[in-house]
Amino acid sequence: MYQIISGGLIADGSGAPLYAGDILIQGGLIETIESPGKLDAANGEVINADGKIVSPGFIDMHRHHDIAVFNEGFGNIEIQQGITSCFAGNCGMAPVPNVPAFRAQLQNYLSPCLGSFDDINAKNSFTTHREYLEQLEKISLPLNTGFYAGMGAIKIAVKGFSAAPFSPEEMRGAQKYLQDALDCGVSGLSIGLMYIPEAYGTAKEIAALAQVMKGGKGILCAHMRWETENLARAVKEVIAVAKEAEVPLEISHFKAAGTKAWHGVLREAIDLIENERALGMDITVDFYPYNCGSSTMMQMLPPGYLSMGVEEAIAGLSNPVNVEKMRRLLIEGEEGWDNLSQTIGWDRTIISSVSLEENKKYLGKNVTACTKEFGFKDEAEFIAQLMYAEQGKVSIINQSMSQEDIDTIARLPYSSLISDALYGDMKRPHPRLTGSFPRFLRDFVKERKVLKLEEAIHKMTSGPAKRLGLSDRGLLKPGYRADILIFDPESFRDQSTYLSPTEQAVGLDSVFVNGQQVLKNGKIIRRDAGQVIR
Ligand SMILES: [Zn+2]
Repeated sequence: MYQIISGGLIADGSGAPLYAGDILIQGGLIETIESPGKLDAANGEVINADGKIVSPGFIDMHRHHDIAVFNEGFGNIEIQQGITSCFAGNCGMAPVPNVPAFRAQLQNYLSPCLGSFDDINAKNSFTTHREYLEQLEKISLPLNTGFYAGMGAIKIAVKGFSAAPFSPEEMRGAQKYLQDALDCGVSGLSIGLMYIPEAYGTAKEIAALAQVMKGGKGILCAHMRWETENLARAVKEVIAVAKEAEVPLEISHFKAAGTKAWHGVLREAIDLIENERALGMDITVDFYPYNCGSSTMMQMLPPGYLSMGVEEAIAGLSNPVNVEKMRRLLIEGEEGWDNLSQTIGWDRTIISSVSLEENKKYLGKNVTACTKEFGFKDEAEFIAQLMYAEQGKVSIINQSMSQEDIDTIARLPYSSLISDALYGDMKRPHPRLTGSFPRFLRDFVKERKVLKLEEAIHKMTSGPAKRLGLSDRGLLKPGYRADILIFDPESFRDQSTYLSPTEQAVGLDSVFVNGQQVLKNGKIIRRDAGQVIR
């Protein structure tokens, strides 16, 4: 039994102009593509795509579904926006490797981004990439999912949250963890230099770890140390790391955050990247289609204060002496630290998730407004009390970027679209969790005409596939996996907003994953067609 998608306009993922064609799917693969009406439909099932766009399924190379993938209902918000393959383990964060001494601390640190570990801890006990991927292969996957190893997780497994550099022996331990992950088929190494304990690491140290991937074994995905005024310096650092390690570089969620960095600093960073590209370096970038970022409040606290140990530092916020220490560092800054309270500003930092009932009154408000409205002495005092009460788990949305800059990045021929979706709080997430891909088509193609449809589709399909070395996904081409979407670009759209962030995307007609139809007339009809991408 085969299937024919007939009557559609094909956007094949390469960026080439649309063309009319019929696609024959068999055995999970695209068998052939012919001009309209040429295929023998007698023995097959015909799926009518008259007047619709037919494209490859979207590949989200940057999500944080490492733990959410085990949850019931995983796949709904992903498939509804056309994602057929997604990659976890980003920004240095991953649930594996983990060791008993630091497991609880690791999970505590990851949960604002990855979500609660409670269910996982009750059912699973993975400690390595091998065990993690084996567990995943035992469950039904609604879409394909791949992974990176995370340097943060590796570092914590080797030496906890210590600020000290790796000893030679610790470095060998870290390299072994990365090698094991690569042997299991992860796509590369992610780093999150804005987050402790990675923030304590030097370029030399990161290169020493990343060079395990030399010779085409994986890519380095970098959440850089700075994304504000020091953006160019951050780009220089990761370029130096990738050069020294001799690995391809993907700059994650590339942006210029903070009003002072808009326009000029971004141009400087792009020039650095393009100079290296002209000299033959393999370097690309990705971005999400929103002008607000989302992160954790922890990221806004000074490393010089947290260096006493994260748990101690947060518990210590009930003591005015510690609050004063934190306040001083926030005002004075620290060498090498991107002080977001100044580069973005407390008045552009919105509280997006808390767990205690009494703190829900702060949701949707910025830190300065909360400080004034609820009678705190200053922002430091407000943050201290909130972080103490919430035991450090507070998520934020930063109104940090310029739309013009995002458009500039979207037009770069070597940029891919991502979501950077976080699963920490599914009640009040960043709208990119549910909307990134259709929003890109609606906002950047249909409404503002920044890109042509086929160009935008390329950035969501074969662009990321090529970057990840996926030789059988991302294009509508004979021999490729049949990950396919059918939609009308007039009705396919995101519905989530900052104030109403959980609304699902709507308007897809059909989604195929590995040749199986998983969504029909907008409804998910099966949830087992995905595979682990190794
Ligand atoms: Zn990141």
